[in-house]
Amino acid sequence: MSKALIIGAGGVANVVAHKCCQNDKVFSEILIASRTKSKCDAIKDSIKGSKTKISTARVDADNVPELVALIESFKPDIVLNIALPYQDLTIMDACLATKTHYLDTANYEPRDLAKFEYSWQWAYRERFEKAGITALLGCGFDPGVSQVFCAHAQKHHFDTIDTIDILDANAGDHGYPFATNFNPEINIREVTANGSYYENGKFIETPPMSIKRVYNFPEIGDKDMYLLHHEELESLAKNIKGVKRMRFFMTFSQNYLTHLKVLENVGMTSIKPVKFQGHDIIPLEFLKALLPDPASLGPRTKGKTNIGCIFTGKKNGKDAKYYVYNVCDHEECYKEVGSQAISYTTGVPAMIGASLVLTGEWRKPGVYNVEEFDPDPFMDALNKFGLPWKESFNPDLVD
Ligand code: NDP
Repeated sequence: MSKALIIGAGGVANVVAHKCCQNDKVFSEILIASRTKSKCDAIKDSIKGSKTKISTARVDADNVPELVALIESFKPDIVLNIALPYQDLTIMDACLATKTHYLDTANYEPRDLAKFEYSWQWAYRERFEKAGITALLGCGFDPGVSQVFCAHAQKHHFDTIDTIDILDANAGDHGYPFATNFNPEINIREVTANGSYYENGKFIETPPMSIKRVYNFPEIGDKDMYLLHHEELESLAKNIKGVKRMRFFMTFSQNYLTHLKVLENVGMTSIKPVKFQGHDIIPLEFLKALLPDPASLGPRTKGKTNIGCIFTGKKNGKDAKYYVYNVCDHEECYKEVGSQAISYTTGVPAMIGASLVLTGEWRKPGVYNVEEFDPDPFMDALNKFGLPWKESFNPDLVD
């Protein structure tokens, strides 16, 4: 019986709250706290018939003393940062000050620099060890489940892994000319950055969207996908010993890319402040205000996602191939929790990660990435909580 503080009240936080309430044996009480309290109240009101006690609060997660005061009054066993990556460090500071476990779904990036890497959060390792608390980083789907899949492949299907391709396909259609499936600011910062992949011990940078492949995804079909830099490659390069090459691909439609190119060309994706009618505005933040709120896409989105990992390597001296993936249906997710599949596939793993820290199965003082823990209880929980996985031992490989 544990208490969790969920910070944020967007599309993903909505799913986390619903899923904690479905797992009331572990989560006896949750507090949903965010910048706009009415959004927390709306989530609370949408959850029916759970034994989990729910309360709500307002908090500015950029403000450490405010966070500490909230944690001291609610006394959670774990804090889940389901707000934005900008708040990772302030929330980690508040967890250290109150000796409370921590979890997030995306690694820290400074607001004024579109650069995401683990160094800032890994620097907290010793302090978390000394405080006797666990920080579990990047526990959504990718990052998150993608690394659980790697740990599972390593443990059960390979003696050595040579290559890993993480493939993220979204065949959902929301009917808008242009929208992003999660926070538009974070999403556009990610896809307009240089790509990169890992080969023979080092990362190789590529211009944005310059490497394209077509893959025939199970239950979705042929999709164009593009190589991106993605944060889990950084930790996997440390933790999957002997891996020679790792890449991350995400699908985008030509329509999405055309809109993005135009927005980029006119300067709307920039994070450098510009003067407008006497005020400093950041074009990307202004664009976010114009675009549909990802949480509002739920009732309109049809189609499926398929996210998984393809491995090659050796088992018992023989060449081996393995593909493990989840297929998720936008409309089913909406029916169950009122969010589309991107929020769903992120929120379910965040709840599972938090529950494993709380039950002690994934509790270890320090700062950890998901692949550093035993994947078995997580893989079981994925099947139980709505993200069943499938596997194939003879998949098509990506060239
Ligand atoms: P949204 O933009 O829908 O929600 C973000 C929420 O955080 C909003 O409720 C917002 O409040 C709140 N917030 C922002 N700043 C603060 C602050 N300073 N203090 C308190 N609350 C704050 O985002 P999503 O739900 O789509 O995404 C949530 C997180 O999940 C992001 O970090 C995203 O990167 C991550 N993610 C991870 C994925 C994975 O697979 N690992 C995939 C998809 C997303 P307000 O409503 O007032 O603006």
